[in-house]
Amino acid sequence: MLGISELSRKMPASPIRKLVPYAEEAKKRGIKVYHLNIGQPDIDSPKEALEPIRNIDLKLVSYPHSAGIESYRRGLAKYYQDVNINLKYDQIIVTIGGSEALQIGLKVCCNPGDEVIVFEPFYTNYNTFALMAGVKFVPVTTTIENGFALPPMSEVEKYITPRTKAILINSPGNPTGTLYSKDDILLLGEIVKKHNLFLLSDEVYREFCYSEEPHFSCMNIPGAEQNVILIDSVSKRYSLCGVRIGCIASHNKEVMNAVMRFAQARLCAPALGQIAGEGALATPKEYFEAVKQEYIDRRNLMIDRLNKIPGVYSPMPMGAFYTTARLPVDNADKFAQWLLESFSYKGQTVMVAPAAGFYATPGKGLDEVRIAYVLRKEDISNAMDCLEEALKQYPGRR
Ligand code: PMP
Repeated sequence: MLGISELSRKMPASPIRKLVPYAEEAKKRGIKVYHLNIGQPDIDSPKEALEPIRNIDLKLVSYPHSAGIESYRRGLAKYYQDVNINLKYDQIIVTIGGSEALQIGLKVCCNPGDEVIVFEPFYTNYNTFALMAGVKFVPVTTTIENGFALPPMSEVEKYITPRTKAILINSPGNPTGTLYSKDDILLLGEIVKKHNLFLLSDEVYREFCYSEEPHFSCMNIPGAEQNVILIDSVSKRYSLCGVRIGCIASHNKEVMNAVMRFAQARLCAPALGQIAGEGALATPKEYFEAVKQEYIDRRNLMIDRLNKIPGVYSPMPMGAFYTTARLPVDNADKFAQWLLESFSYKGQTVMVAPAAGFYATPGKGLDEVRIAYVLRKEDISNAMDCLEEALKQYPGRR
């Protein structure tokens, strides 16, 4: 009988996508929907990235080198030097977004059936990448009460088995905005060295850190050069989600040689995207300063408003542009749907991402939502008015 594979049957649809039809219906009814659910920055890409594409003068768009355009890789090495990460250009391979870097990274580290420790809640697509690599995710739960901080390493060690091959971390993190300190990272480093594990470090939000302390990259853990694999992307850094460019980097030669074979099999990362990425390297400091200040102002407004709503709690996120907040509701999935289907306030409503989809453990995060502050302050303020009113009216309020 004609039929699709078991893997494709298991591939989950995006937990956020399932709410999209309800949002579309609400819009058809003339309701304005504030999208607090998305992870796409609304801030303009820097002109340094856009101009090279605008001025493109090619007679033929050919395949770039599988590892990436050499001048771009050399430029990336310089970018890393500037953020205090020591990488040579031949330790960096350009990928199709951070997404491909994660997929290749997991496949290079793990055999099917191997285990990877992740801290939940985590970016939902990690689940699909693990599934595609045949990897078993072992979730270690972090909690809202602790601001989603890393648990003590003695706790983490309990999850290590003979099949554990890697730990995957993301700091600053999606969906919580949590930023791990240098001390946290160094402790994790001790664990991966002691147990001979890879450490996959997703640092796509590196530029969005709001603490006094600068971001500390896993690449700088002393003595862990062979363990650490860096996952990166231009999507968030330069608001360039659509150019589909990221990279994977490591000091481990065997790892990078293997990455290269995967890179050859998919030929190359997009040529035009790399041209934009290379241009973006010239983005002035002032661009980042302005963007960061904008996100800090939005975050302060949003967290302040959230915590003033009775029964709502959000920790103060120190990075990225998300928070995971607890709401006084029976079920955040139902609430998110109700917001779109049955509620409006002054002709407006909000769309949020139910947090359960960011946990691997069933039953976790049922009263939590991820909220992104990728809207202008005025819109955030209106969205918070809606949320406050909605929580007064919602029949499943607790
Ligand atoms: N890692 C994290 C933590 C993300 O949030 C995202 C995108 N939302 C990605 C990786 C992948 O993004 P891209 O493929 O656009 O680089």
